[in-house]
Amino acid sequence: MKPSHIEHIGIAVTNLEGAIAFYEKVMGLKCYNIEEVPDQKVRTAFFKVGQTKIELLESTDPEGPIGKFIEKKGEGIHHIAFSVEKIEDQLAHAAEMGIRLIDCKPRKGAEGLDIAFLHPKATSGVLIELCENKTT
Ligand code: ZN
Repeated sequence: MKPSHIEHIGIAVTNLEGAIAFYEKVMGLKCYNIEEVPDQKVRTAFFKVGQTKIELLESTDPEGPIGKFIEKKGEGIHHIAFSVEKIEDQLAHAAEMGIRLIDCKPRKGAEGLDIAFLHPKATSGVLIELCENKTT
């Protein structure tokens, strides 16, 4: 797939405002975007660290993916997102290699990115997100 960089690291939190305060006051980063993604039942907050972002994820529904994740594992790193080109081709390629996918085709994530997840069973337990910014 040859990703160009880690686009973001997704972190599941129970209290978005509290987590934002930590990243602003302690880490000295600036939250530049807060966005609700109804499709994934989350509210997200974004910080830039160089080319990579931190994406905080607060569940808006206990039955959503982040709600379930926190119930099972508690707060913590939820996924790592790699920036790729031609995301459809990458998904097809991964499927050909027998990699189990959560998303067979990309959907819209926060910040207008096209995103798709690989199944953590196929990736040593790490939820991997592929994303492509088609707006630039
Ligand atoms: Zn993400």
